[in-house]
Amino acid sequence: MVKTMKNGLKFDNYRKMLEKKADEVRRSMSAQKAAQVVSRLDVPSDEGDLSQQHHEEWIFLNRNTIDIKLLREIADALERIEHGTYGVCLECDEPISAKRLEAVPWARYCVSCQENIAARAALGEPVDEYEEADR
Ligand SMILES: [Zn+2]
Repeated sequence: MVKTMKNGLKFDNYRKMLEKKADEVRRSMSAQKAAQVVSRLDVPSDEGDLSQQHHEEWIFLNRNTIDIKLLREIADALERIEHGTYGVCLECDEPISAKRLEAVPWARYCVSCQENIAARAALGEPVDEYEEADR
């Protein structure tokens, strides 16, 4: 049986979107890791190259952190699908618009709550906010 959400959308569609996205992220992470190993093998060890290598490593780690965060967001969203709470804003309990879920299937908040949270974050308040990567 397919569960239907308040806004008339099927959980299954989102589950597929989320699983596909998680696959993409995992694939790009392992591709990057492979590239990193290869480039390390033929890096000559003089100092200039070393700092360049550190820089690349930093970018790699930074990117990985974003990917890991995204994977966690996706896992959370899949869990909400299991519990039947997917597509509802965690802040105000209103349904999140289909348009937003299409763009960001792992969205936890509706647009206005997300904006409030972003505004609070901009003021330096510690908020548990996921930086929505535009990709
Ligand atoms: Zn909300």
